[in-house]
Amino acid sequence: MIIKPKVRGFICLTSHPVGCEAHVKEQIDTIKSKGLIEKGPKNALVIGSSTGYGLASRITAAFGSRANTVGVFFEKEPSEKRTATAGWYNSVAFEKLAKAEGLYAKSINGDAFSDEIKAVTVELLKKNVGPVDLIINSLASPRRTHPKTGKVFKSVLKPIGQDYNGQTLDTDKAMVKPVHMEPAAGEEIAETIAVMGGEDWEMWMDALDGAGLLAQGCKTISYTYIGPKLTWPIYRDGTIGKAKEDLERAGKSINERLESRGGSAYVGVMKAIVTQSSSAIPVVPLYISLLFKIMKEAGTHEGPIEQVQRLFATQLYKDRVPETDEAGRIRLDDLEMLPEIQAEVDEKWAKISTESLHELTDFKGYQKEFLKLFGFGLPGVDYEADVDPFVMFS
Ligand code: NAD
Repeated sequence: MIIKPKVRGFICLTSHPVGCEAHVKEQIDTIKSKGLIEKGPKNALVIGSSTGYGLASRITAAFGSRANTVGVFFEKEPSEKRTATAGWYNSVAFEKLAKAEGLYAKSINGDAFSDEIKAVTVELLKKNVGPVDLIINSLASPRRTHPKTGKVFKSVLKPIGQDYNGQTLDTDKAMVKPVHMEPAAGEEIAETIAVMGGEDWEMWMDALDGAGLLAQGCKTISYTYIGPKLTWPIYRDGTIGKAKEDLERAGKSINERLESRGGSAYVGVMKAIVTQSSSAIPVVPLYISLLFKIMKEAGTHEGPIEQVQRLFATQLYKDRVPETDEAGRIRLDDLEMLPEIQAEVDEKWAKISTESLHELTDFKGYQKEFLKLFGFGLPGVDYEADVDPFVMFS
């Protein structure tokens, strides 16, 4: 089968197995080029490990620190009708490449919010890995079935208390358009907290602790975003921001629990990058296109793999306590948030139009990154070649 991208708005319906493997390899090469991380993790559990920040975390733990990794994710396997999702192909490729280097790597595909998948993970760790010294929580999901009540919660990306009027990018048509968003109503804030807040992180830690699977000195981290003021009405001050506040609450509570055994829990504030989740947030793709141009010109641009490598090498695994901000968060968005970078964002944001999109922003770079998420546009991959979409775990 010859696989071409089928982009519909902020998703691509197809993914390319060979391209996804090349994308994983590219990230592994980046990690290797930076050398081994001294005293890094030995046994890592990555929840949400198949794409974006979670995949970068798994690659960094494995190839940057030679850690055994267990990855949990929710992806679709290939069928007669369609290719697998990119995260499936990424994970098959990751396991293959890790095993080729003698690294233990096992993946669990299923709903991380469920008791069942937690139990499967605990059993696997008990049998094959032992206690974990790093737990990365990198889930991004539009819904969660609560494991105790069975209630299905849906997360929304909405402002709170007032309408939002701004500009966004129609990525299909390369058009800058006004966007109007109604504020969250009814249970939408509480539901978004239930999906993207910290309860599930705490449940994972309970499950691991209950099974004696938290190693002495173990670290755990969840990721968040703060970003510039122009995104605050729909991010930091919106429904997702409330969920991220709850994630920070959970981080503090988990930290208290781990402190007595020399461990710690952190929330890491990461830079805006192109992922399947971030491309679904209104306003963000336009902001990212602008930010990428400015940061590339400044020579400070980073993708997920560079961000996570820096997190491990300069914060989590340095011979000192990580540097944190006033709220106790580790800041990897420092270069994005530099005043000179944000001043340029502000100045250009007001001038962006459909006509000036390519001149003022790196929309081409955004599109390239977006397609790469699905394994398209990787150098050295023959996209005219017949490929077998039935790429499975061995
Ligand atoms: P992503 O969409 O690339 O990855 C999400 C992961 O979660 C995938 O592995 C997916 O399979 C998994 N997943 C989703 N639902 C699941 C379920 N029910 N069970 C098991 N796995 C499930 O997302 P991302 O952008 O890398 O986001 C990861 C974290 O990083 C989020 O907390 C996000 O808020 C944060 N973050 C993202 C950005 C950004 O710009 N993308 C910036 C800062 C922080």
